[in-house]
Amino acid sequence: MSKDNVIELVQKDDIYEVPAKQSQNNTVIIAPHPDDEIIGVYEVLIKSNPIIIYSGNTEVKRREEALKLKDHTTIKGQMFQMSVPPIFLNKNSIFYFPDPTTELHPIHRQYGMMGEQMARGGMNVIFYTTNMNAPYIHEVQESDKKEDLLNKVYPSQKSLWEYDKKYILFEGFCKWIF
Ligand SMILES: [Zn+2]
Repeated sequence: MSKDNVIELVQKDDIYEVPAKQSQNNTVIIAPHPDDEIIGVYEVLIKSNPIIIYSGNTEVKRREEALKLKDHTTIKGQMFQMSVPPIFLNKNSIFYFPDPTTELHPIHRQYGMMGEQMARGGMNVIFYTTNMNAPYIHEVQESDKKEDLLNKVYPSQKSLWEYDKKYILFEGFCKWIF
C-alpha cells in the first residue's frame, strides 16, 4: 500500500512527534495496547487516515509489531506516550478512547477516564469497546479483512482472536452527550 500519506515522524527518545502543521482536523485513536486500534476501531482505521497514540509503556517487541501497521494502511502516524500531545487538543480533532464504563481492563478504563475528562472539556470524543460487551456493538462489514490485518500486524497476539471471533466480528462506538 502507498506510504505517500504517512507523515515523517521525528523520533526523540521514545516519542514520535507529528509536525505541528499536521495538527488540524485529525482523527486521533488512543490505543492503550497495540492491537486495540484494530480490534476496537478497525472501521475508522481504514477510512480516516488516523494518528494512533499507544501507551508509552509499550514494550519494544509490541512497538515493532505496531509500526508495521503503516505498511498495510494509510494511517498518518503513530506515537508512544502517556498523554495526548497539546497540538491535537482542538475542536477540529476527533478522538477515539476506550469506553470507561464497559471496558474491563483497568488500563483501558484509566484511558477511558482521560477521554471522559476531555469530552467534558468540550473535545469531540467517541468511545469504543474492545471486549464487545457493550450495548452499542454492530457487525463489521468485511470482517475477514479485519482478521487478515490483525494476523499480519500482530501475530504475537493471535491466540486472542483465533478462537473467539467476537473481536473480529463486532465493533461499537458511542458518543456521550453532556
Ligand atoms: Zn488493550
